[in-house]
Amino acid sequence: MSNLSNKTAFVTGASRGIGAGIARRLAADGANIAITYTRGVEAAAQVVKAIEQAGGKAIAIQADAADPQAVAAAIEKTVSTFGGLDILVNNAGTAIPKPFVDATLEEMDRVVDINLRGVFIATQAALKHIPDGGRVINIGSCVGERMGTPGLAAYAATKGAVKMFTQGLSRELGPRGITVNNVQPGPIGTDLNPANDEWAAPQIANTALKRYGHVDDVAALVAFVAGPEAGYITGTNLTVDGGTNA
Ligand code: NDP
Repeated sequence: MSNLSNKTAFVTGASRGIGAGIARRLAADGANIAITYTRGVEAAAQVVKAIEQAGGKAIAIQADAADPQAVAAAIEKTVSTFGGLDILVNNAGTAIPKPFVDATLEEMDRVVDINLRGVFIATQAALKHIPDGGRVINIGSCVGERMGTPGLAAYAATKGAVKMFTQGLSRELGPRGITVNNVQPGPIGTDLNPANDEWAAPQIANTALKRYGHVDDVAALVAFVAGPEAGYITGTNLTVDGGTNA
């Protein structure tokens, strides 16, 4: 039996990047998977296909993380398809890198709506179903704790808020054995943070390992936190950042 057999995981923003890596890994560990996305219909279908070809079960649902109705409907569809929901991974997130003085209110609202309000929305909807012993895993960022580069002040603020939300919620759900943890990636090569553009060099310089990480590095940590051996880990911020915050 695999680690996550008979479990169902809901991963937001998982048509590509870190979310897709998490979805594939949790499926490989035996979980049924529901992923959400906004625009990437074809990419999401590819993630589902890859999981199914590997012998797993997955569905993809179009649901903007900032839209409470769409997220609630996606969670209900997940529960009706797989018979329950055990693991929530709040992965959907975005950054609009630029000097803070140049950021528009609309841009700041968008970052807050997806990265923070979206986490609140999905977590409330999921907690209607997550049983005792379940898992809430947020994908924060190493910049939620320390900041080494300019251009991400508003983004870092949302990730710092996700850190404290994690800690606060762990106190409420602990009596039910539901763990709440915050996985904080450092530079991981994705569309959001390409390993080869002008923003990459300072991020590499800030790591101890002098390189970008891979989505699988994050997925491995999420899989451990989702699994049965992590039942005594809650309210914590687990950083997978190549030593950026060392
Ligand atoms: P990408 O931009 O590469 O991928 C984002 C994914 O989320 C896509 O599948 C996208 O699909 C989906 N998505 C975007 N907006 C929404 C939305 N409003 N609702 C639902 N889905 C959405 O990002 P990463 O994989 O790099 O980042 C994933 C998470 O990891 C984010 O929370 C990010 O802040 C965090 N992180 C990333 C780091 C990195 O270096 N890459 C470092 C630290 C943290 P679609 O376009 O179809 O909507």
